[in-house]
Amino acid sequence: MPDLPAVPAAVDLTVLRDQVALVTGGGSGIGRATAFALAQAGVEVVVADLDGEAGEAVAAAIGGHAIAIDVSDLEANHAAVAFARERCGGLDLVFLNAGISTGCGVGDDFDLARYRRAMGVNLDGVVFGTHAALPALRANDGPVRGAIVATSSLAGLVGVPLEPIYSANKHAVVGFVRAVGPALALEGIRFNAICPGFAETAIVDPIRDALSEMGVNLLPAETVADTVVQLLAGAAGDAGGACWFVQPGREPGPFAFRGVPGAR
Ligand code: NAP
Repeated sequence: MPDLPAVPAAVDLTVLRDQVALVTGGGSGIGRATAFALAQAGVEVVVADLDGEAGEAVAAAIGGHAIAIDVSDLEANHAAVAFARERCGGLDLVFLNAGISTGCGVGDDFDLARYRRAMGVNLDGVVFGTHAALPALRANDGPVRGAIVATSSLAGLVGVPLEPIYSANKHAVVGFVRAVGPALALEGIRFNAICPGFAETAIVDPIRDALSEMGVNLLPAETVADTVVQLLAGAAGDAGGACWFVQPGREPGPFAFRGVPGAR
């Protein structure tokens, strides 16, 4: 049995009160649940989603704001950050969460448009969202100037043969967060990832029956949202670049990556 990292204690969410958050993919599933949890913690939330109506509905329910964006478009990410700064007077917390399944493999079922779309949403969406948010976070004062959580997946920690392109872009999110997180931590910006197992949201609809037949337990979206909010509030500490697994029946915690063998 490998050594597992100690499970960090839950943090006090009152630190989040009156902060401003941007949640991509906030119209549905994990993003929606996180928008609700953040609002409950006293955060002013901007819901950014491709589905403008769904985003508006969440914003109306939590007393927040909504903007329709496609996260695969760089300018749209800048527009969402500018919207948050104008409407709410700044930006402190960012949840880069919008994502899609791929719907194709790499054999006869390869589809270039689906491949580009999946990489555009799941990877570019996180990179562009980070790039767009950084000036707003850097403009904040204090030892903690902001926090970003990116949504990867367990498919970003282990290879998933049935969804190789999804697994590739979710691994890329893990690599990006591990690369950028420690450097941003030096600036007082916490940047970590979540890696949930299967969760009860629309994205699993195409495989819901198969998962049920295999007896796979789905995480409630609210359980994943709780971990996101904990990370935004500082549960991973100040080092940055942590990738937290969220699995049914386990306390969430940082995945322990093995070191790479050094040169001899
Ligand atoms: P979901 O219920 O389908 O929510 C995803 C939301 O993102 C939807 O509102 C969707 O809008 C929106 N979206 C899709 N493409 C977008 C784009 N280009 N720009 C802006 N918004 C966009 O699924 P979810 O499970 O909550 O997914 C959230 C994240 O969790 C994804 O990154 C997913 O990969 C990840 N994840 C999910 C699971 C799981 O089992 N559910 C497990 C691990 C990781 P539309 O409805 O219009 O497409």
